[in-house]
Amino acid sequence: MATYAETHRLSLADRDAFWRERAALIDWQTPFSRVLDYDRPPFARWFVGGRLNLCHNAVDRHLAARGEQAALIFISTETGQRKSYTYGELASEVNRLAAMLHSQGVGKGDRVLIYMPMIPEAVFAMLATVRIGAVHSVVFGGFAAASLATRIDDATPKVMVTADAGMRGGKSVPYKHLVDEALRLAKHPPAKVIIVDRGLDRQMKRTPGRDMDYASLAAEHAGACVPCEWLESSEPSYILYTSGTTGKPKGVQRDTGGYAVALNASMRDIFCVKPGETMFTTSDIGWVVGHSYIVYAPLLNGSTTIMYEGLPIRPDPGIWWQIVAEHRVRTMFSSPTAIRVLKKQDPAYMKKYDLSSMNYLFLAGEPLDEPTARWASESLGVPIVDHYWQTESGWPILTASPGIEDTPRKFGSPSFPACGYEVKLLDEATGKEVGVDQKGVLAIVPPLPPGCMSTVWGDDERFVKTYFETVPGRMVYSTFDWATCDADGYYFVLGRTDDVINVAGHRLGTREIEEAVQAHPGIAEVAVVGVADALKGQLPVAFAVVKDPARVADASGVAAMRKEIMDTVDRELGAIGRPGAVHFVSLLPKTRSGKLLRRSIQALAEGRDPGDLTTIEDPGALEQIRQALLLR
Ligand code: AMP
Repeated sequence: MATYAETHRLSLADRDAFWRERAALIDWQTPFSRVLDYDRPPFARWFVGGRLNLCHNAVDRHLAARGEQAALIFISTETGQRKSYTYGELASEVNRLAAMLHSQGVGKGDRVLIYMPMIPEAVFAMLATVRIGAVHSVVFGGFAAASLATRIDDATPKVMVTADAGMRGGKSVPYKHLVDEALRLAKHPPAKVIIVDRGLDRQMKRTPGRDMDYASLAAEHAGACVPCEWLESSEPSYILYTSGTTGKPKGVQRDTGGYAVALNASMRDIFCVKPGETMFTTSDIGWVVGHSYIVYAPLLNGSTTIMYEGLPIRPDPGIWWQIVAEHRVRTMFSSPTAIRVLKKQDPAYMKKYDLSSMNYLFLAGEPLDEPTARWASESLGVPIVDHYWQTESGWPILTASPGIEDTPRKFGSPSFPACGYEVKLLDEATGKEVGVDQKGVLAIVPPLPPGCMSTVWGDDERFVKTYFETVPGRMVYSTFDWATCDADGYYFVLGRTDDVINVAGHRLGTREIEEAVQAHPGIAEVAVVGVADALKGQLPVAFAVVKDPARVADASGVAAMRKEIMDTVDRELGAIGRPGAVHFVSLLPKTRSGKLLRRSIQALAEGRDPGDLTTIEDPGALEQIRQALLLR
């Protein structure tokens, strides 16, 4: 068997051969004429001329051999519902919903915005959209109305699919009323909204002519059969918004053929899940991990996927391991934060169930600290695979690839570049490669491999400028992460180079949170920084200047203002962006040219040295930050 090193080398030396072999795992309605077109760097077009359909590959092509096999197992510990869909049943659901979308005028290239809790209809909606050649944009349910409105205006969907409510920790979390508010704020609202009524929100209002009931529409289209729309490989499958340094989220655009090939291959090369075996990914469909490893990769591969609505500790902290035992899960994929949550519980739960089916526990989304990795591996008796990637890449960039070779892993390291990725660590100032154990910007030499973003939705220029023009002297893709590489070739990811923070594996731009805080009319200025947190990795902390200092002159004024700011962020951005703390100061530390000294603020908030302060305009500002932190 080939070694990892040899396979990785070949994946770059002979891209055509490497990806041609993997493309054979996918059904093509029309074969591609060229593996890669890289005539217009940095835009890469994979499997040029090939025509295919993601839904056909994820559903239809398995019907003959796997029609009776479970495709999707839905488990909600919130509502107590458990339901399994065979590939045959999944095909019926998806066809029916595709017909429903057609009936509302959705066709090839139109966008469908999906704002849904973790219910099977969300998966049906994604698959039905790509079946008819439309483009989905799933927005995480934790985003508030204003954030949803921004995404609606950027993607301009023809139809939205939503639900009355989700459930979290036993409480109903309304979705539909946020949708109503977002549609009021949006400049280009969709004409129709299809609503799954779970009976969780009795107050839900409907707008006649616009709002349609999923169940009634489904009844009209029972037994529908909708042929797949065959797309050219580079045509878009979906848009997924992600945070960056500006307040405006970027729509990561994914192609069709490259994504299908890369994801299917990753199930074999990286995640070691065979067709017919079960994968359990604990993310949410609103994030890239949910797109790739709850929905597309397991289904493309003919595997069974588990969709879980609920918390890892309810009804008790053994629930995930119970699911693993019951469904003979082969590979599980979760986040370091979830494991840190479980680490605080009674360890007996980790040993209670038979986990012998499980090959690996993959963890990604944020740095995995060594104690957590060691603890999980020892208490579960299962190998832990830390792996690193981003919304933009769609699948792992740095990872062990046990399907190729089971290389030893080092705690704290996501191992090596996945096959297809030419990774370099570059000096921020010179663009030159750094040496062993030296910190550099983690960059990918283009062309980006199949499956990675093809552009920013509607904005090719932003794609090039944002990602390919930040390292001096060369056109490389910047991940905006710092990393080192040791003498054995193991990478260690150190954190972001930009003003993006990572809360429990969720990426948030500090600018976005600042804009949300500033929506409060009493705020003159604010700086938000990410501060290290033992559980969630990082937490946003705000330092705000109020317009009228009298409002925060005493403790009750401070408490009231803090609450108002938190509520404003909940409303503008969503509770995921809510600062862990808000401090009040009368000025913010800035350079003489007016740039916020975020890194110094962050250093102080983490109890570190604020660093080089030669450019600071008023040193008193930093002293205020120090005092504010003492007052907490
Ligand atoms: P997102 O696009 O929301 O998935 O966030 C991607 C970012 O999460 C990366 O740019 C990293 O900063 C961070 N990240 C993801 N996986 C890891 C990992 N295994 N170790 C360290 N950081 C990670």
